[in-house]
Amino acid sequence: MEEELLQKLSSFVLTNAEEEAVLLDAEDFNVSHQECARSAMGKILTHKGINLGGLKASMDLAWGYPKGLKVMEVGGGIYQFVFGNEMDLVRVIAGGPWLFNNQLIVLQRWEEGVKPDQINFSYSPFWIQLRALPLEFMSVVVGRKMMVGFGDVLEVVMAQLSGNQGRCIRVKVELDITKPIPRGKYVRTADWNPIWVSFRYEKFPHLCHYCGLVGHDDKACMLKYNESKAGIMKVNQYGVWLRASPVKAPFKKKFEGRSEGSPAESSATARAGQEGTED
Ligand SMILES: [Zn+2]
Repeated sequence: MEEELLQKLSSFVLTNAEEEAVLLDAEDFNVSHQECARSAMGKILTHKGINLGGLKASMDLAWGYPKGLKVMEVGGGIYQFVFGNEMDLVRVIAGGPWLFNNQLIVLQRWEEGVKPDQINFSYSPFWIQLRALPLEFMSVVVGRKMMVGFGDVLEVVMAQLSGNQGRCIRVKVELDITKPIPRGKYVRTADWNPIWVSFRYEKFPHLCHYCGLVGHDDKACMLKYNESKAGIMKVNQYGVWLRASPVKAPFKKKFEGRSEGSPAESSATARAGQEGTED
């Protein structure tokens, strides 16, 4: 739409008043510029309508009521989240992934000069649990190697699962969400035959159980439609079995400036640090 208008403009004969550019001083947009500098742009991957009040209330709760949070709709499924201070903005961006009504919100820090439709929302962090590994594979290096081919590893920690489910490796990885999410990976050594390690996702978003993409369900899946028409439809390849069970939280403090589940993360990080294998 915007491009069409710009093309039309080249054929316009402008009046003098139209042609004379308005000169803006920095103070004319000082406040809005400061707000943008403390904001994140978020895309919610859903076809469903979003209630702005509901989104604000949900994110206030999920983010521990950050002071002065403002949520504005930009269009095209993109929202701007303005924070009262830099610390809350950094904490929320680092604490992802985030969900709204189980729909994934892909957050990017606002960047000067980048228009909303130019922001790349193709990558999102995910916390993946690697479970039922042989005990001798429980290392940060193994966690990193298991993600080769899937995305950049942001963090690896050893964690205790709730109940008596034992320990797991938790990997925070930046996945390309234009591709189906990975379900697991074979691992082997010189002495061991390959064994399959299933991936389990914390904060598991709604996704298509047929093709594994985030942003639609199997009723709106083009791949399913085309394969069904061609008579080669498969059984659903994805499902809620990819959802992780909670990590044991040794203590819980509300609104201490951390995202949900962080106490377990930080204690697990400390443990991984003690093992001296993070780097
Ligand atoms: Zn699909």
